[in-house]
Amino acid sequence: MLVIDNLHAEVDGKPILKGLSLSVNAGEVHAIMGPNGAGKSTLGYVLGGRPGYEVTQGSVTFDGPENQKLDLLELEPHARAAAGLFLGFQYPVEIPGVSNVQFLRESLNSQRRARGEAPLSGGDFLKLARAQAGALEMDAEMLKRPVNVGFSGGEKKRNEMVQMGILDPKFAVLDETDSGLDIDALRIVGDGINRIMRAPGKAVLLITHYQRLLDYVKPDQVHVLADGRIVRSGGPELAHELEAQGYAQVAA
Ligand code: ADP
Ligand code: MG
Repeated sequence: MLVIDNLHAEVDGKPILKGLSLSVNAGEVHAIMGPNGAGKSTLGYVLGGRPGYEVTQGSVTFDGPENQKLDLLELEPHARAAAGLFLGFQYPVEIPGVSNVQFLRESLNSQRRARGEAPLSGGDFLKLARAQAGALEMDAEMLKRPVNVGFSGGEKKRNEMVQMGILDPKFAVLDETDSGLDIDALRIVGDGINRIMRAPGKAVLLITHYQRLLDYVKPDQVHVLADGRIVRSGGPELAHELEAQGYAQVAA
């Protein structure tokens, strides 16, 4: 569903991704682990199409609507989102002056329009948003507040999952979605990822440092990203090995 081949990318002229290859099939969850500064967030940004991240070599093929093969790197960020790609940020941005509801409704409806679907009415949208907030045990009052403004770290991460539930993407790249979550929130977010994304025709790339999220969202494969490449891949046991031994040992 997502095939990354020999991806090289740089930021401000500095090479960060240095020949990264990875293939994720529909129905799978792949975890990416690796030391700080390895290029994990950069991979997410390159897939999402963040400006300033320049791809110098390689390709990314994505199975879009009706499983049509898309050259992901050719598409504008909004077209990638409309094709079913979702990026959950390591550091979710605050958007003062724009309410969560306005933002989410506009996001969803612009994606629906891009796919040739009718936009949701205000009432139908609110029902959906309340249901998703409820499932993530987020207070519905938070939907009225400006996007992420004054939210705690954990609330921002939970809000990202509400967003994902509303947009219902095919493929999610989740960048350290577990950071800043307390133990109860971790379970709620883990259950949310399974509920929203564990379905035929969907897949997840889960960037995390810790086994604890993988206790809830069981990965089919685990990869170690170090210095801009995948240096090891394995099954779920690789995450335990990393936790016990550290990256330096395992990635050597
Ligand atoms: P990770 O998410 O694995 O911790 P990142 O992808 O955030 O790593 O960063 C990879 C490397 O890219 C780091 O060494 C970081 O300092 C560098 N980097 C990220 N953004 C920039 C930038 N705008 N200019 C220069 N270097 C950057
Ligand atoms: Mg990062």
